[in-house]
Amino acid sequence: MFLSLLSAVHLGCIHAGWLCSSDCEASELLKRFQRGMAMVMRMMSGSSYSARPFARLCAVVDARAQFSTAAVSSVTTTTVSKSVTLPVGHGNVVAHGDPTFLESVDIYFDKAAAIAATTPDILAQIKACNNILKVQFPLKCANGTVELIEAYRAQHSHHRLPVKGGIRMAPNVDADETMALAALMTFKCAVVDVPFGGAKGGIKIDPTKYSANEKEAIIRRYTSELVRKNFIGPSIDVPAPDYGTGPQEMAWIKDTFEHLQPNDINGSACVTGKPLEEGGIDGRQEATGLGVYFCLREFLNDEALVAKLGLTTGIKGKTFIVQGFGNVGRHTIDSIYGAGGKIIAIAEVDGGLVAECEDGIDIPGLKAYYKKKGTITGYPGAKTVKFAQGILELPCDVLIPAALETQIHSGNAGNIKAKIVAEAANGPVTPLAETMLEDNDVVILPDLLLNAGGVTVSYFEWLKNLNHIHFGRMSRRMEERGKTALIDALENQFGNGHRFSDEVRSQVVKGNTEVDFVWSGLEETMLLSWENVKRTSQGRNCNYRTAAYLIAIERIATCYRVSGIFP
Ligand code: NAD
Repeated sequence: MFLSLLSAVHLGCIHAGWLCSSDCEASELLKRFQRGMAMVMRMMSGSSYSARPFARLCAVVDARAQFSTAAVSSVTTTTVSKSVTLPVGHGNVVAHGDPTFLESVDIYFDKAAAIAATTPDILAQIKACNNILKVQFPLKCANGTVELIEAYRAQHSHHRLPVKGGIRMAPNVDADETMALAALMTFKCAVVDVPFGGAKGGIKIDPTKYSANEKEAIIRRYTSELVRKNFIGPSIDVPAPDYGTGPQEMAWIKDTFEHLQPNDINGSACVTGKPLEEGGIDGRQEATGLGVYFCLREFLNDEALVAKLGLTTGIKGKTFIVQGFGNVGRHTIDSIYGAGGKIIAIAEVDGGLVAECEDGIDIPGLKAYYKKKGTITGYPGAKTVKFAQGILELPCDVLIPAALETQIHSGNAGNIKAKIVAEAANGPVTPLAETMLEDNDVVILPDLLLNAGGVTVSYFEWLKNLNHIHFGRMSRRMEERGKTALIDALENQFGNGHRFSDEVRSQVVKGNTEVDFVWSGLEETMLLSWENVKRTSQGRNCNYRTAAYLIAIERIATCYRVSGIFP
């Protein structure tokens, strides 16, 4: 049914946009140095990369240190409670020797490209960002002033349509960041076999500084700009939530699109991550965090892999630190806590929490506090600390960055004591940091795989919208009737007059609801993808990130090769 309805989707053609440059605030010297660093990393990215001596990296880090002594030399420690001593001083400073986020994505790509089974011309096609749209529009602020808003949409690859990727609202949004995030979307969709190209959008504002009405005006105007430039539509480009946006923003996007395109019967599929009442799908909110959990669970249940880290199997009893208590962080924490994992610390922008008892932080209590106060700081069940960045450096089994990119860089990677870094955020570890972590035997589970649960369930939402029916509507009662008949038959045949209890009967008979389908599809996708990444890593003798890039590159390359070039 889905396929027949999907075949009715008309794939539109995408118009080229404008190439624009970012406004880099770093000095020319630093820029030149960063380019040099990126080149060094590219040189290191050949197939013999893992065999290269650590001395080379040390030289790189030493060179970097000359330019960032202020950041590095200011590291001190402070006692924040009787029991917890936190390192401070790294703050949010990204060591300047690290490549930029966009350069990092290119470096990771190049490393996999060096061993990918495809040709240089196809690699060049895959690597390039196809379109980048920059728009600037006025906002009438509540106080009567008019402000110019800057926003972007990057479409990295159209090898599959529509292209797909979230929209973020953050003060540091720029063209480079948007292109980096769009590239990650291309590779992520390919890793989990979701048939979309990659895209990303960004609005350069701090959403906490705007009223709901102002945010609505910004989102609606941004959507109208996308419509006018043919950068949005169910068969063209489908946004979703990302950092700083959520279901409410997606509802405004859908409503604006449907007003401007009233004849598009599939209009609600122009965006995913919508509220349930607006055509969203049950389970999307939790999806990214749940996907992170599924992958972590599989890794931690692999006896051979965890034994290498000196760990036993299972999530139960392991210690976790999470950076970011937003959509992804919260839901990741929920699933881990539910499986018996101990959340021993959480970092947020306005401070962090460190557990004061061995069992970790009581998460239901924290969630209730957060709902009331809108912050995690001050929660009486844990120690509040001011310098949350130092939390990343506390000892734990698993560190989960779930906030923003480049949080683990050459300035703090050497201090990370976790055995596993699970990248719930996009691009949280720079290439220099990756090398430093791996030299300390830290395993990195890469973003391309780990946080792909969000786009996977967005895919299900898009299918639901194209089908104009929710999952389970046609099957639930039928399933229940079939299972009831089976239970009745079992009782008649073998029951000797005995009956199943009402509780057992209702558990067995229950038909699948939408969320059952969604989470089953999500688990299937994450498990198959993890197995594939693990197998590729072992078979091609590379780390999990390179394995994920390899899978993506080779899948996309096949698509380009078979499709040919138009005209
Ligand atoms: P969000 O806005 O809901 O939450 C992010 C949280 O991180 C916020 O609470 C913010 O205060 C906090 N934060 C920001 N900087 C911090 C810092 N330096 N230290 C500690 N906390 C900090 O965003 P989100 O949707 O949870 O996205 C988080 C990351 O996950 C982003 O990298 C995003 O691209 C990625 N991601 C999100 C989704 C999704 O479905 N939302 C899917 C895939 C990937």
